[in-house]
Amino acid sequence: MASPPHSSSPNRPLSKIRFTISHNSSIFSLLVVLYLLPPLSSAHLYAGVEDTKGVKNDLFLEVLRDEAVARLNVLGKVSDADGYLERTYLSPASIIAGNIIRGWMEEAGLRTWVDQMGNVHGRVDGMNSSAKSLLIGSHLDTVIDAGIFDGALGIISALSALKVLNINGQLKNLKRPVEVIAFSDEEGVRFQSAFLGSAAIAGVLPVSALQIQDKSGVTVQNVLKENSIEISEESFFELKYDPESVWGYIELHIEQGPVLESVGLPLGVVKGIAGQTRLKVTVRGSQGHAGTVPMSMRQDPMAAAAELIVLLESICKHPEDFLSYDDQCKGFSVESLVCTVGEISCWPSASNVIPGEVTFTVDMRTIDDMGREAVIYELSNRMHQICDRRSVSCNIECKHDANAAACDTGLSSQLKSAAYSAMKRMAGEDVDDVPVLMSGAGHDAMAMAHLTKVGMLFVRCRGGVSHSPAEYVLDDDVWAAGLAILTFLETQM
Ligand SMILES: [Zn+2]
Repeated sequence: MASPPHSSSPNRPLSKIRFTISHNSSIFSLLVVLYLLPPLSSAHLYAGVEDTKGVKNDLFLEVLRDEAVARLNVLGKVSDADGYLERTYLSPASIIAGNIIRGWMEEAGLRTWVDQMGNVHGRVDGMNSSAKSLLIGSHLDTVIDAGIFDGALGIISALSALKVLNINGQLKNLKRPVEVIAFSDEEGVRFQSAFLGSAAIAGVLPVSALQIQDKSGVTVQNVLKENSIEISEESFFELKYDPESVWGYIELHIEQGPVLESVGLPLGVVKGIAGQTRLKVTVRGSQGHAGTVPMSMRQDPMAAAAELIVLLESICKHPEDFLSYDDQCKGFSVESLVCTVGEISCWPSASNVIPGEVTFTVDMRTIDDMGREAVIYELSNRMHQICDRRSVSCNIECKHDANAAACDTGLSSQLKSAAYSAMKRMAGEDVDDVPVLMSGAGHDAMAMAHLTKVGMLFVRCRGGVSHSPAEYVLDDDVWAAGLAILTFLETQM
């Protein structure tokens, strides 16, 4: 989801597109450049690497690691901003990135097209074009001052795996159609509405979304038109895939958290994506002079807000201390509950004035929807009690509420065994079991879960850092990611 620019990034105006490939370079010449790039990783963390020049090699290091890493770097330079990565919905850089991806899709043997929301598709029919298809996706848009792996890794590793099948002449042997989708919007930066691409395909995007405006007043429909995409209400509804035509959806994504790094493994399987509630809390008190109003006579919304925020932290750290008992008379534990106040503002915001009003946001996430509801209920009761005691008013508004999306257990276990055998193939020996994780961040899989069964793999990223230029994935972990998708396609499709 969207986040503010990295604190160290300069606050430069949006400017012309910056990318190292010349504006008029063709996809062909780009691919030539890629082939000329030297292998980027020399760290051989895994056994069996030495075999790569021999005929026995089945790990496809050149495609799954070296070329995939080079492609991540190419896409990471396609930006609308100078000096940092920014690629929002249907921006000029987004269109260029989509064209580059389309070229890679065609090179992997896929038939390509761009749909009416700007999603880029590449499909291969395999043995039976009318069988239910496997969809593999992730997003090509980014946040502002982004890292190069978020979204792009999922698209590139899927295309690398399919390229290997294409090279080996195995594409035609796929039991069912396989379609890679590079979604046009997941981060929601430009229109403050996430999943414009995947939600349209899943059929859960309201047609009114076409009229959402960006900061400059341009609507989604206008932006599509600027890019020669005429969309009407009728054609909007045609974007939705028929659930009967889809077998399932898988997505590979960087973890954006520290768990895989802490257990020392490159891959994990995702159990589900957390549900989320966003609140806006407004506290109103009595504005006054900082020097003349005695402490005992103040109705200070800032001090009240501080107490409310500490209350939130306490509840989210130890929900069992605050919530009553569940049906089985067991104390409440709300799985992987995380709560954040990320934005706070006050009026009039002057050092010598007791504020009249303070507003702050609450972002609460957990995989446990009932637990989330119970925590919200308890939180708002206790917040109102605090506000009453302090003689300030408080208003709690729900701005966003989305239930958790569970990953399909069957698909998850298939992905888990693919990840396990990929890690084993690379290590040349038995490895630890693949960890099962919860996703606290939203992903396209969340929207796609409305259409079909979904499964996700996570890839280790350094320090768990994402939405930052410091985002980093080891070259060998990019390789593990591609090999896991390849193994999944080889064994399940
Ligand atoms: Zn992402």
